[in-house]
Amino acid sequence: LILLDAAIERGGLHPFFQAKVSMADGRICGAEALARIATSPTGFANPVPFIEFAECNNRIDDLTIVMTRIVAQHAKSFFVDGKPLPISINISPMSLGRLGFPDIMASTVEAMGLPASQVTLEVTETRLLDYGPNALDVLSRIRIKGFGLSVDDFGTGYSNIDRLQMYPFTELKIDQSFTRNALTEGFARACVETSVRLAKELGLRIVAEGVETQDMWNFLADLGVDEAQGFLMAEPMPAADFQKLLARGLPPLQVAGLQSRRA
Ligand code: C2E
Ligand code: MG
Ligand code: MG
Repeated sequence: LILLDAAIERGGLHPFFQAKVSMADGRICGAEALARIATSPTGFANPVPFIEFAECNNRIDDLTIVMTRIVAQHAKSFFVDGKPLPISINISPMSLGRLGFPDIMASTVEAMGLPASQVTLEVTETRLLDYGPNALDVLSRIRIKGFGLSVDDFGTGYSNIDRLQMYPFTELKIDQSFTRNALTEGFARACVETSVRLAKELGLRIVAEGVETQDMWNFLADLGVDEAQGFLMAEPMPAADFQKLLARGLPPLQVAGLQSRRA
């Protein structure tokens, strides 16, 4: 708990940024902020145990707000072609129980000078928490504030197809467990294909996570996936490195397969 407080209140929380890449042109079209916990001057810990610990100790909203404030501060200086870069921030399903959460999130980003419309909130579903009775209300308020809303890790945890229609999502992210196996396993491939079809039917932007190979990129591009995230294009990195990546752009080599196939 001491470590948790230290991270939340005394600067131990560091967002890393991972590029979201447009499958239409291979260019960076957004960034996802991923929490990292400083364990030593140069070391960072995996966020998952930390997030779970914060959830169990009723500190997750504090963590989200501190994280959001730091992310917003960095995001103000992220531009592509002179346009502000859309930013995604992960939130806990636990926060969907709190009716005041959308207001706090909106005032947090706006106080930092970042419009809510530049931010998409990703609700993760892997940690087996159900959404609870306030979820529809909270998700609607989040949308009314102008945030985008993404269903993260679709197909895992509690996610079910009903939810896509019931809640005001704007984006669907296919979990990397499906992406990773889609070229070798029939079931994973079917999950990816079905997710894409569902998203298109509902008018949601579709994002694939865990894109590690050119073959995977090609497969997803052919299916009509809008955006990809993965080690093939860029790993999560500190803000200063991400800023440099934005300035120089992704190496064209990495999407050469796509461009030559479309040519
Ligand atoms: P997520 O939101 O689904 O994030 C994607 C995870 O996949 C990240 O792990 C990222 O580093 C990793 N990843 C990205 N590309 C690849 C790839 O090509 N291959 C593989 N194998 N992995 C890839 P990370 O950073 O360890 O985060 C894990 C999870 O922790 C996130 O999953 C999210 O659910 C949660 N999380 C991270 N930051 C926050 C936060 O600020 N708040 C909350 N509530 N949850 C967070
Ligand atoms: Mg996410
Ligand atoms: Mg995910």
